[in-house]
Amino acid sequence: MSTIMSRRDLDFLLHEWLGTEELLARPHYADHSRDTVDAVLDLAEQVATTQFAPHNRRSDLNEPTFDGTSVTVIPEVGVALRAFADAGFLSASVDGLDASPLPASVFAACMSWFQAANAGTSAYALLTMAAANLLRKHGTPEQVERYAVPMTEGRWFGTMMLSEPHAGSNLADITTRAEPRDDGTYRIFGRKMWISGGDHEMAENIVHLVLARTPGAPAGTKGISLFVVPKVLVGDDGSLGERNDIALAGINHKMGYRGTVNTAPVLGDGASTPGGSAGAVGYLVGAENRGMALMFSMMNEARIGVGLCAAAIGCTGYLESLSYARERLQGRPIGADPTTPQVPLVEHPDVRRMLLAQKSYVEGALALVLMAARLYDDSETAEDTHEREQAATLLGLLTPVVKSWPSQYGPAANDLAIQVLGGAGYTRDFDVEQHYRDNRLNPIHEGTHGIQALDLLGRKVLLDGGKALGLLVARMQATADRARAASPDGALLADRLTAACSDLVATTAQLATLGDPVRMLADATTYLEVAGHVVVAWVWLDQWLAAHGKEGAFYDGKRAAATFFLTRELPRVGPMLALLRDADGLTLGLDPAVL
Ligand SMILES: Cc1cc2nc3c(=O)[nH]c(=O)nc-3n(C[C@H](O)[C@H](O)[C@H](O)COP(=O)(O)OP(=O)(O)OC[C@H]3O[C@@H](n4cnc5c(N)ncnc54)[C@H](O)[C@@H]3O)c2cc1C
Repeated sequence: MSTIMSRRDLDFLLHEWLGTEELLARPHYADHSRDTVDAVLDLAEQVATTQFAPHNRRSDLNEPTFDGTSVTVIPEVGVALRAFADAGFLSASVDGLDASPLPASVFAACMSWFQAANAGTSAYALLTMAAANLLRKHGTPEQVERYAVPMTEGRWFGTMMLSEPHAGSNLADITTRAEPRDDGTYRIFGRKMWISGGDHEMAENIVHLVLARTPGAPAGTKGISLFVVPKVLVGDDGSLGERNDIALAGINHKMGYRGTVNTAPVLGDGASTPGGSAGAVGYLVGAENRGMALMFSMMNEARIGVGLCAAAIGCTGYLESLSYARERLQGRPIGADPTTPQVPLVEHPDVRRMLLAQKSYVEGALALVLMAARLYDDSETAEDTHEREQAATLLGLLTPVVKSWPSQYGPAANDLAIQVLGGAGYTRDFDVEQHYRDNRLNPIHEGTHGIQALDLLGRKVLLDGGKALGLLVARMQATADRARAASPDGALLADRLTAACSDLVATTAQLATLGDPVRMLADATTYLEVAGHVVVAWVWLDQWLAAHGKEGAFYDGKRAAATFFLTRELPRVGPMLALLRDADGLTLGLDPAVL
């Protein structure tokens, strides 16, 4: 059995829980069937296992280097990405460019293999796919042909250049300038920061999607535009020409995710002089000042990708610690005769607790992300307009949760995996410490935890008079009703979910009536965690239903994890909700001098 991902769980989630065959019956997916989905999952497992997993540790120990001119990444990364492209995965995700696109939910299941096997190498592919998708949605046909197509072929890679040294969470403050030229192009000047995959020699070209301000643009996010800025300029016939004016001030040395080079690019400083003058040549995407709105389509996709990565790294840590706990002999059951043989770790209830907690976090997180991807599929391809709208509304509400909950509980699972291995877990002889370091990025990038919390409570739950929240609650209610009808055990779990859900709705209403946004948002991260726990409890009860009446260790495991989450984890939201209702403003009144 693989310790990268559980194929059995992915099959369960796609087919027994999400009803993927029903989805495949839609005309949009006419070229796919259960057989093609099974084949593509087999291929993902094979490429991830043979091309991505073997250099995961080597990438960590040999992080990319920068000699002042170019970046060197260990060769296995480029080889793996070539294999990924050759297997068709780069194009399969870009709807509209692939003749037979895969549903996003199936594609996410495939991606989980690559992210679990090697998050650092996978990041280049994810950024490239997200950049190609953005251009496919918002670029001109010529931009699609010139930049998105070579990316889906794996010849060129993509990046997203948003952050600047002084503007991370608050992109409204970016200062990179875009000066228009008479020929319709722009020249870009500025310093970017934290840009993943910002330079390397693994591809013929790198397509940067850059946020910048045009002269006289309004202040704040309303004055930000989006540009395609290739590393090497591209001729009308697609041939590569002059080097663009982009250089690196340096690279960042990170705690984890070390395989992905992280860069500090400088645009327009004259490192190269395309057309005889300094300034990075850029091409506007969409209209001026619409950059943030367009970038959001990439960011939303990337946010779901971050949630998936956090879940996937959590899954592999769980499987590795489970395998270790089954092998390692240590101690005996309480009261056992000391002359009897030692037992495997997994025999100890506390070790089982750590394993079951991990299982409930990571399989809950994985299910949450696949459900979000399915909502995306429904929002694009459901035959009924009303269903499409509902799916889009729910996905909008859930995106901060889908990004953040796995990013909090994936590392929490990796922390438990280290604990299961004891001293061995704290050494570099085992991968669990790397998983923890890799996963620790996920609450930081693509909008920190705190920023997602502000988005959820400050914007999403209150939009349209709480319409999306109402929709979510109705779906939870429907699951609870089915569980009540299924069995007395189901009814007990359903009662827990509905109680927590009512408490969440009442607390949300109370916060909304405070009439004081500052006070309302002071503990927004607590709200995000509570909302995540309630949503994941729902996801678990729904999985419980999909397993109901079925026999065997796999289904028993689903029932045990669902019960664990609803009886051990969900009750933790009670005190958090009480704290939110109190809205005591503890941190608001605090003088920074006392910290
Ligand atoms: C490894 C890595 C890869 C990255 N890749 C990319 C990339 O490819 N492209 C790109 O554009 N960016 C990238 N980023 C940047 C990333 O998105 C930012 O680091 C992130 O948005 C946070 O910005 P910051 O680091 O400037 O932190 P800050 O914005 O300084 O935030 C620091 C802390 O303060 C909190 N905080 C800040 N403002 C508020 C507020 N208003 N209210 C409450 N809390 C607040 C934050 O939540 C955080 O905890 C990457 C970052 C890392 C570390």
